[in-house]
Amino acid sequence: MPATIIDGKQVSASIREELTAKVEGLKAERGLTPGIGVVLVGEDPASQSYVKSKEKTAESLGIYSKTIRVPAETSEEDVLRLVREFNSDPKIHGILVQLPLPPHINENSVIFAIDPKKDVDGFHPVNIGRLHIGEDCYVPCTPAGIIELIERTGVELKGKNAVVVGRSNIVGKPVAMLLLSRHSTVTICHSRTRDLAAECRRGDILVAAVGKARMITADMIKPGAVVIDVGVNRIEGGKLVGDVDFEGALDVASAITPVPGGVGPMTIAMLMKNTVLAAERSLK
Ligand code: NDP
Repeated sequence: MPATIIDGKQVSASIREELTAKVEGLKAERGLTPGIGVVLVGEDPASQSYVKSKEKTAESLGIYSKTIRVPAETSEEDVLRLVREFNSDPKIHGILVQLPLPPHINENSVIFAIDPKKDVDGFHPVNIGRLHIGEDCYVPCTPAGIIELIERTGVELKGKNAVVVGRSNIVGKPVAMLLLSRHSTVTICHSRTRDLAAECRRGDILVAAVGKARMITADMIKPGAVVIDVGVNRIEGGKLVGDVDFEGALDVASAITPVPGGVGPMTIAMLMKNTVLAAERSLK
């Protein structure tokens, strides 16, 4: 039987519906409109398009959004000033600095300047630390979306072997930590892993977050595994594909996310979820 397709568009639509109701409630009962502040430095087309979809989604949910667009030459000090302004703006509950930043700006300095209470991307060390020790925090959006997708398949994570390919700070490491906190036995693979195929084949859950088109082939997947494909790769002809050979994997996996339409739509939904959560927490 071919694998079930995990439909990220559908799951994210139902999360957005839940959020719309929550936002309406906050406005009506508490007089509070959740707000997100975005800083976009430069004209990178991918970043511009991500920011546009974030603005559009925020608007559709009734969330106030304010984007500050500045040229690529803007100094680090000026970007830090914008972050501090958002930190002290009571209308803004969540702050997002669109990455990557131009090379003359130190990304960590900017991320560290965000008030952890408004760090809806979950990249501030305070939130990363809290994630590691199992305290309440803002969970990075893509990893949070991945867990949501797995959990909505009804698959139990406790005791399962979970293999994560990729160890970035924004996807691989946090998703591994979330799987561990749900009692999976977690293996993290990377570019120096010796026998990647053998490691992958041990995964009841396989998360691919590498950025290499179709590098995970059917023979690397354990029969019946749940496969989450985070990769977004543009191949010749302009088509978008994931890190997993989707067609081949369909015959081996029990469930798989497509690219596009899998993890991608979840990321923005989780960003909005974190923003609404930040607004709710601001009332306490
Ligand atoms: P990074 O480039 O930061 O990390 C890639 C990871 O893959 C690294 O840990 C690297 O290992 C590992 N890697 C590279 N080559 C191999 C290999 N041959 N075998 C095993 N591991 C390898 O990427 P990101 O984590 O930021 O993103 C990964 C993918 O996910 C990209 O395609 C990106 O576009 C996509 N993405 C999608 C999102 C969404 O919303 N759908 C959000 C974020 C990312 P090493 O550490 O040793 O270098």
